[in-house]
Amino acid sequence: MIEIGGLQKLTLIDYPGRVAATVFLIGCNFRCPFCYSGELVLPERIKKQPRISEKDYFDFLKERKELLEGVVICGGEPTIHKELPDFCKKIKDLGFLVKLDTNGSNPKMLEKLIDEKLINYVAMDLKAPKTKYSQAAGVEVDTKKIQKSIDILKEEKIDYEFRSTIVPTIHAKEDVIKMAKWIKGAKKYYLQNFRPEKTINPKFEKIKSYPQEFLVSIQKVISPFFEVCQIR
Ligand code: SF4
Repeated sequence: MIEIGGLQKLTLIDYPGRVAATVFLIGCNFRCPFCYSGELVLPERIKKQPRISEKDYFDFLKERKELLEGVVICGGEPTIHKELPDFCKKIKDLGFLVKLDTNGSNPKMLEKLIDEKLINYVAMDLKAPKTKYSQAAGVEVDTKKIQKSIDILKEEKIDYEFRSTIVPTIHAKEDVIKMAKWIKGAKKYYLQNFRPEKTINPKFEKIKSYPQEFLVSIQKVISPFFEVCQIR
């Protein structure tokens, strides 16, 4: 049984161009210090998080068939769940489009979901340039796996985007440019400004976000690498 820790019943922004609902799966293999979702990531907080049963979730989707076009599956990190392909299939069988939000650490699962046509859109987080990846993810990361996920998405079998949360103390301007060069030629790359709110590492709640102009100055440099490059 997949563990569902939350549900956003309606979102107009999380699935590009679609009316969607977001489901939050419990558990993550990363510990990004700037993560906003401690209740889905940290074991001691996960314990206290109420669960939604799969039955209740699918009852909800059946009721909303007319209103919703898509479902966003996010976490935590959805690809740590071996039941994810079945879960996506059940959603697709109800006629919804499926968007997966992932940290890109499980290329095998990503490839399976794409090849078996169980998802329609992927948003992959790029955490940092290779040399800083483990620092940004809060755990040792095998960047070969991240590279593999990038390569899979760039094959363009389905629609996708990359996105990065830009965090002072982790990312200097050159780091963002390095990340952009890493995925150069991708369709879409979004820069998201870090918000200092309930983060996994409480020290990050005191960090001041970069001014918008800082991100705009980076966007100007990296835009030529992508079809779309925007700040969110
Ligand atoms: S931000 Fe990092 S720790 Fe939080 S859910 Fe995403 S990958 Fe996991």
